[in-house]
Order: sequence, then C-alpha cells, then structure tokens
Amino acid sequence: MEDQETDSRQDAITRAASDAYFAADSSVMRLAEAHGAEIRERPVWPGSFSKTRYAEPLAGIRAAQTVRRSADRVAGDYVRHARVEGIGWREIGGALGLAEDGQRTGYDLAVVAYEQVTGEPDVFREVSFHYSCPACGQGISDRGPYESHPEDNERGHAEDCTRLAADVAAWQAQQDAEDAEWEAWTRQGNLTEAEADAAGAEKHAAAPAEDAEFETEAG
Ligand SMILES: [Zn+2]
Repeated sequence: MEDQETDSRQDAITRAASDAYFAADSSVMRLAEAHGAEIRERPVWPGSFSKTRYAEPLAGIRAAQTVRRSADRVAGDYVRHARVEGIGWREIGGALGLAEDGQRTGYDLAVVAYEQVTGEPDVFREVSFHYSCPACGQGISDRGPYESHPEDNERGHAEDCTRLAADVAAWQAQQDAEDAEWEAWTRQGNLTEAEADAAGAEKHAAAPAEDAEFETEAG
C-alpha cells in the first residue's frame, strides 16, 4: 500500500515536472511570436512524420531568458510568502539550493540567501527586503540576518507585536543557554579564574557596544 502511494506520488511529480517544461516551451514560442519571430517546423528526426515546432532560434533563445527571469520572479514571490510565514533566511537558503555554496565559501547560509535575493549590501544603497507582518499588520523592513538580536534585523513591527516578542524570547533563551554552557565550561577548570573573567568581559562587551552604536545611528 505504501509502495503504491510512493509510486503514484512519484508519477505525479514526473508529470508535473514535464508539464512545467511544456509550459515554459509554449511561453517561449508565444513571446518569440509576439516579437515577430517566425515559427518553424521540422521532422522530429529525418524521415519522421511527426514534427517539432519551434521559434526562429535566436528569438527563441532571447525569449527563454525572459521565461527564466519570470521563474526567478516567481521564486522571489515565494521568498516573500516564506518571510510572511516567519520562515528564516537559513531555511530559504536551503530551498534555494544554496547550502553547498555556503559550505564552500564558509559564509553563513542565511546571509548567502539574503544577499542572493536582495543583492549584496554596498555603501551607496541600504539593502532591505520588505514584507507585511501578519501578527502586527505593519510593513517590515528586513535588514538581513547580519545581527544576532531580532530587533536589529527587522524594523517596523508594532511595539506589542506577538511575533517579534516570540522571536526575542527565542533569542533570549538561546543566549541564556549559551551563557550557561560557557559558565559550565569555565567552571570545569578549562580557564583560570582571571582568564575566565577577562574572556567573559570581552564576550559581553561586544554586543552592547554594537547596540549603542546603532542607537546613535538611528536616533
Ligand atoms: Zn509584527
């Protein structure tokens, strides 16, 4: 029974994938024809009765680029759906097939995904990705997964937004877990007391300094 289900699922996937190919092919022909390209025919193989129809080849190649960009736009629409649903950039990166790239370059997969979608940040342009938060109804400016604290990465949530509150709580829980792990590690005698104090001070100095810098920028 299970095998049959797997088989029919597999058939449906194969059919849908081949439909996608034919849909793309017919879009290319429509576009090429709209540009005034000639539609041609030739036997599928020499001597064959069945014929294949195609646009003038160079017009077809150009039209296929438009279809490719359209598919990218559809993917972009789905990235927005994902962000609205609260799916993170790391998972989006996995779905975009960027996981291997991330491993190869040593980059954070979430950052690779964000930059693929928005373009890399540069000094001339503040990059940001916009979507509407379903919890508070506000337009969110998603500044990318560069910072640790959710409030540094997403701007625009209402003060009482439940989704932002949940993200902040999850962030705090992770911080607490890391702090506990750190304390357990130093207590095991991996560092002398003086070393632990110095390293701890350094660890805790980093985050608030960034926040302070940001506050000045924003204020
Ligand atoms: Zn919100």
